[in-house]
Amino acid sequence: MANKLKYFVGNWKMFGNQDSISILQRINKFILKKRKIKKESRIVFCVPYTLISNFAHSFKNKFIKIGAQNCHYEETFAPYTGSVNASMIKQCGANYVILGHSDNRMEGETNFIIRNKIDSAIKQKLNVIFCVGETKKEKINKKTFYVLRKQIKQSLSRKFDCSKIIIAYEPVWSIGSGKMPKTYDLIKIVKFIKSEYIKIYKNKNFPRILYGGSVNPKNINIFSPIREIDGFLIGGASQRSKKFIDIINNYYK
Ligand code: PEP
Repeated sequence: MANKLKYFVGNWKMFGNQDSISILQRINKFILKKRKIKKESRIVFCVPYTLISNFAHSFKNKFIKIGAQNCHYEETFAPYTGSVNASMIKQCGANYVILGHSDNRMEGETNFIIRNKIDSAIKQKLNVIFCVGETKKEKINKKTFYVLRKQIKQSLSRKFDCSKIIIAYEPVWSIGSGKMPKTYDLIKIVKFIKSEYIKIYKNKNFPRILYGGSVNPKNINIFSPIREIDGFLIGGASQRSKKFIDIINNYYK
């Protein structure tokens, strides 16, 4: 059986200027020399809105794809100061968008708002990286499965084109903290997410499920044997080309 495609998605958060394109150029150069990695992986960088157009243009026919980190749910132009909708992102050349990241949930984004955002993004044929995950308090109170079920049920609709949805499991307590779930717990959670997803879509081929939270070149090899995981959402370590390249290299070692 052919190996399943593995995703390495960089989430730059509030990082980068036009010169930061050199990071992507170095990564692209590295990938071109690695046939196996090129065949078996997909690389996406979700960058700030200010960089999408230039980066997407520069990488139009290249291996690396460009995405956004959020969008407004409103489908047309509307009076929302500081916001950008899915259609505007698409027009800039993005192919992906991260939705439901805990940074945005913490600022008041609800499961229902995320549902509307996913709807608007899929209508623009964007690939959605839908983030779910429990906080430290929820984990301590043994609410992980309850929270994940609610996030999935309230944000995904049977009407959505499920081939456009990638779920990223990002325990909030793991993001930027250096802490990671135990392998046993992670496998259990990923299987649970799949089963909740299948309840909605009755489609066993999907979803693709990524893990995100403190992934770095030193810990990535823990994940290589975990077949249930389809890739990674990488924050801090995606802001340096060497770290990102080392993550990919070490994963395939
Ligand atoms: C993130 O913010 O999506 C993330 C995974 O961050 P980090 O890798 O820095 O923990």
